Amino acid sequence: MQDIKSFTLEELKKEMELLGEKPFRAKQIYQWMHEKLARSFDEMTNLPLSLREKLSERYSFTALKQVCVQESAIDGTRKYLFELGDGKMVESVFMRYKHGNSVCISSQVGCRMGCAFCASTLDGLERSLEPSEMLDQVYAITLLTGERVSNVVVMGTGEPLDNFDNLLKFLTLITDENGLHISQRNITVSTCGLVPQMRQLADRRLQITLALSLHATTDEKRRRLMPVANRYSIAELMETCAYYFDKTGRRITFEYSLVSGVNDNLEDAEELVRLIRNLNCHVNLIPVNPIKERDFVQSKASFIDAFKNKLAKNGINVTIRREMGRDIDGACGQLRRRQKALQ
Ligand code: SAH
Repeated sequence: MQDIKSFTLEELKKEMELLGEKPFRAKQIYQWMHEKLARSFDEMTNLPLSLREKLSERYSFTALKQVCVQESAIDGTRKYLFELGDGKMVESVFMRYKHGNSVCISSQVGCRMGCAFCASTLDGLERSLEPSEMLDQVYAITLLTGERVSNVVVMGTGEPLDNFDNLLKFLTLITDENGLHISQRNITVSTCGLVPQMRQLADRRLQITLALSLHATTDEKRRRLMPVANRYSIAELMETCAYYFDKTGRRITFEYSLVSGVNDNLEDAEELVRLIRNLNCHVNLIPVNPIKERDFVQSKASFIDAFKNKLAKNGINVTIRREMGRDIDGACGQLRRRQKALQ
């Protein structure tokens, strides 16, 4: 069965035509799914029952089940564990900022990129998410919180550019004026650095922000943290980032997780300055979130500050990522792993 929530409005119109239905039905169904966030065909009460029955025979309708939610006592961040139609689980996070509410979504169940410090990749990739399943995370959280979501970051479990076509479809649907209509500028996609897909994304000239997980300044060091560094060099990545900026005019965000004794000394900071000096960019420093399966240790606050100051003094735009929800299983993939272990 085809997944109805992953159709664009145009595609849905064609489907309705094939079914011999009037074109306005497509718009109605689309609005039910993407504006009113219906969770089943039954809710679409202005459709004739016969049509609802026909739809449910032909199309599958995704909806997430909440398995658990943890709320941070510190900052109100909420971390949700959702169950997909096939019983697999994904994590999504709701964060309140001054500029609005942000949801961090997963793009895959598990991940095959193998980054050494990340919990999401420990069991490898189970499968990629459909566009509808990425939307559902935002929709479910909108319904559960009763609050509007203004920003989406594709920074949860999975490598979004390893699920490229579904990611693009998701971006089309979430920004659609007949849906939640989230502005492209309020969307960030984070990648470990898949160069060919970064170029393809650049060629689409979207106004989204691309975040690159850099985490090291030499290929040798990066290879120790991220297997993907065996495929693409830092030099190639820098060229690709320049290409992305050239095509889109959007400033790149570099993510740099600080790991004590691995990538956090002042020489690393100096090397980082040299690498990115000529790029229009922003650096987000992330104190590594230790996972129990690995012995990475968070850098001392004094090292983090010194690293930041070094960049700032050299004219680089830099922030330290606030650790939202430290008191709940904050690091990527930890909630899902714990739940899996219980089953
Ligand atoms: N696959 C994408 C997006 C998911 S990871 C990517 O690699 O960018 C989102 C960000 O969190 C990445 O920068 C990733 O490197 C970082 N990350 C993962 N586990 C972490 C941990 N334990 N501590 C700090 N940052 C982590």
